Amino acid sequence: MARIIGIDLGTTNSCVAVIDEGKKPRVLAGVNNRRTTPSVVAFTGEKNSKDVVIGQAAQRQAITNPRRTIIGAKRLIGRKVNAKDVAWFARSAPFRIVSAPNGDAWVRIDDNALSPQEIASHILGHMRFIAEEALGEPVTRAVVTVPAYFDESQRQATRDAGTIAGLEICRILNEPTAAALAYGVHRVKEGRRIIAVFDLGGGTFDVSLMSVENKVFEVLATNGDSALGGDDWDRMLIEYLVDSVFDEHRVDITSDPVAMGRLKEAAEAAKRSLSSESIATINLPYLHQESSPTPIHLDCKITREYYETLTHELLDRLRAPCEQALDDANLTKEDIEEVLLVGGMSRSPAVQKMVEEFFGQSVSKSANPDEVVALGAATHAGILAGNDDEATLIDVTAHSIGVKLGSGGFSSIVKRNSILPVREHKLFATSQDNQDFIEAEIYQGESDKIAENRLLGKIRLDQLPRGKAGSVRVKLTITIDVESLLRVTATELSTGKSAHVILSPSSGLSSSDLNKILQARRAHKKP
Ligand code: AMP
Repeated sequence: MARIIGIDLGTTNSCVAVIDEGKKPRVLAGVNNRRTTPSVVAFTGEKNSKDVVIGQAAQRQAITNPRRTIIGAKRLIGRKVNAKDVAWFARSAPFRIVSAPNGDAWVRIDDNALSPQEIASHILGHMRFIAEEALGEPVTRAVVTVPAYFDESQRQATRDAGTIAGLEICRILNEPTAAALAYGVHRVKEGRRIIAVFDLGGGTFDVSLMSVENKVFEVLATNGDSALGGDDWDRMLIEYLVDSVFDEHRVDITSDPVAMGRLKEAAEAAKRSLSSESIATINLPYLHQESSPTPIHLDCKITREYYETLTHELLDRLRAPCEQALDDANLTKEDIEEVLLVGGMSRSPAVQKMVEEFFGQSVSKSANPDEVVALGAATHAGILAGNDDEATLIDVTAHSIGVKLGSGGFSSIVKRNSILPVREHKLFATSQDNQDFIEAEIYQGESDKIAENRLLGKIRLDQLPRGKAGSVRVKLTITIDVESLLRVTATELSTGKSAHVILSPSSGLSSSDLNKILQARRAHKKP
């Protein structure tokens, strides 16, 4: 059977791994033996050209081609342009983020608006290429990881990116679950252990509590913030630097994309160095010239202490999801035996200190935070391909699913963190005399206010028996399988008459959009 690869499609870096003959996962290296690839896609060539470069090559030319270099597309995938964090991201992104006709966040390159799915597909295609080169065989199937906190649209959008890249996505796996799989599969042999996976990447934060026992991995609870990651630490530094330039020169450089690109790179480098040094220097000669009488040079030093004060509020945002996950799993901090750090941003000493203080123990740094997720994806791919029949994975829903109430409120039917597959129901009664149909809107989310949750679809049951308000009762059943596919059934109790719908989440791209993209891709590849 052809191998299934595991891909960690990261906000900042991506990584691909495979299970080898000894059933061990191993990372597949690309050009220059690099084990991770920057998740950067750049459009080169003439205006409107479809020529792209990916990874390191794209990263190298980012400063000179800022408007056509896309970094952090994962932040936009399956998202609306008016979402608060998307607007926040757009403020410092040197490329243009625009609204698709349905309100989705897309990017504009020259005269074309492109979906983040198309951008992500280039990265997935590149990871596939790395795997094919390393293995010397064609690769068509993959397990791809996403933050546990991704909702159904974001997951579907990731699947669509895989389809565009010519990959069959066998499973969308949660990143922290993947990390725990890689970490535990060959290690934990006996007894039940409860571990916390604290995953802070470039764009997202997830915390998962898992029980590991005899190769059975059970996710007990997961929580997080899909709009909080290392980029936000960079952005705090960038805002500080923009303000310093303004204070000194009275010039706002935010509309200069080249300057903003250079600032972003310098801020990220300073942040990284502050993980090991107590002071970082930022030196950017000729940062800006256009709207200033004399060229602006930036030369400043930032101490770790000052940087930590500047970014303090971001650290605070990491605590609530940890509390919530413990609460949902009915656990206390003392129940956690080990804390596993994942994601590049977890290398920050301030983050590590916060985690240690929160869980009251030192953290485990044994896994490489850049590779552990891809290794877990490969481990899971091995399980799917039948290479490891002992390991079992039990996953949970990251969000509650329920219906909109007549009052405009939200009533959840499947609670978040329910073990998959799950089947739950709730009874509803007619609200008017002789009401002959019911229609229910199915939403995903946690808020009592329906507008803050996400509409997944509708179900309607007609020809209800006539009766007084409240006398006709309808049972609404929601089933979610391990692939997160959602089935909804409405059954009138006295007659047994029922209606069914399968809610396939929309990524924002219709099947005809997808076909068009695929055709254009094929046409472009032809010599
Ligand atoms: P990931 O999405 O897991 O690749 O994480 C990428 C994020 O980790 C980016 O925001 C990086 O700037 C950040 N990062 C990587 N190395 C370090 C480091 N040594 N200290 C602080 N942040 C880091």
